[in-house]
Amino acid sequence: MNQNKFGIRTRAIHSGQGPDPHTGAVMTPIYATSTFAQESPGVTKGYEYSRSGNPTRTALESCLTSMEEGASGYAFASGLAAETCLLELLPKDSHIIALDDLYGGTFRLLDKVKRISSGLEITFLDLKNPKAISSAIQKNTKMIWVETPSNPLLKIIDLEMIAETAKKHGLISVCDNTFATPILQRPLTLGFDVVVHSATKYLNGHSDIIAGALITREKNELSDRIGFLQNATGAILSPFDSFLLLRGLKTLPLRMGAHTANATEIAHFLEADSRIERVIYPGLSSHPDYQLAQKQMEMAGGMITFFIKGGIEESKLFLQRLKLFSLAESLGGVESLAEHPAIMTHASIPAEMRKKIGIEDNLIRLSVGIEDVQDLKDDISAALDFKNK
Ligand SMILES: *Cc1c(COP(=O)(O)O)cnc(C)c1O
Repeated sequence: MNQNKFGIRTRAIHSGQGPDPHTGAVMTPIYATSTFAQESPGVTKGYEYSRSGNPTRTALESCLTSMEEGASGYAFASGLAAETCLLELLPKDSHIIALDDLYGGTFRLLDKVKRISSGLEITFLDLKNPKAISSAIQKNTKMIWVETPSNPLLKIIDLEMIAETAKKHGLISVCDNTFATPILQRPLTLGFDVVVHSATKYLNGHSDIIAGALITREKNELSDRIGFLQNATGAILSPFDSFLLLRGLKTLPLRMGAHTANATEIAHFLEADSRIERVIYPGLSSHPDYQLAQKQMEMAGGMITFFIKGGIEESKLFLQRLKLFSLAESLGGVESLAEHPAIMTHASIPAEMRKKIGIEDNLIRLSVGIEDVQDLKDDISAALDFKNK
């Protein structure tokens, strides 16, 4: 069956999965086994040992590959495990160019781990200007790394421009597609080499596992090397978590629509509220990259960032008073979350760099869930009312 001819909703439910040939089970079983019996030495049914391959993980990897319209996929125990494996592609003393507004843990992996263990050199840029990118390229530059929408400032980076620039200079282009998911944008179809996911977030969608993935545009030397490294470094996703993630993926298209509808309404509601200084949401025409977001993204997604009037005190009061929104790190689940990047998710970025890129003390990030939107608006409005208490 040529699954690529189907739409993304169909692929989310069927790709990589069919009734189990042995039992007819409609859902992919959890192959809870570490090893597989061989008929004679070296004669297998395609599996030897579950680090190298497991049928539940294979089903998940094909489904992810199909959704991103790539050629091969690899599932890992976390988003950062996927990123670590990807960076193992680079020989020591390489240089990479990365967006200056990255997920805090990605920044920490580059700056506090790979810089020391592999001599990795990193240039952080805002990636808006192709000339600035070209002039940052050195003899040892190997990779360019973007995240769009970025975290937490929701900057939109021009994926086509980055893919083109990378191609021109022979760099591996990497896009962290965690915030957008393949429902909103598919970087591989715009020429990116590799997509990275923290599948912990929207892909799984239910805040009950930690998982990561890499998907490549082509089946080539690069993807073969990633497959080799996945097995050689070993941070694979378990069969049970692969099953849960496959289950989550089935509703991803529906969930992203519901997240976007709620977030759009809340973004407008916040923008009209006098207790808010500024709202950043790619679906608002006030967003500095609104035109690009319209062109590049099919929907604006479920993440909103806003600046509350005041400073750290006002931010804390607001966050403590929310009842329906949980005050928690992470994002992308069916339930709504709120957090304070400067103290929570982005604390690993030095204070002066946070200031420079605009992660101020009155900045709050919302991951808007799929609850009834009126309940969410009521919760926000009541929490903002601290001045009258
Ligand atoms: C959470 C996150 C990661 C890291 O993924 P884990 O699954 O937590 O290891 C990487 N990139 C982005 C954009 C994230 O939100």
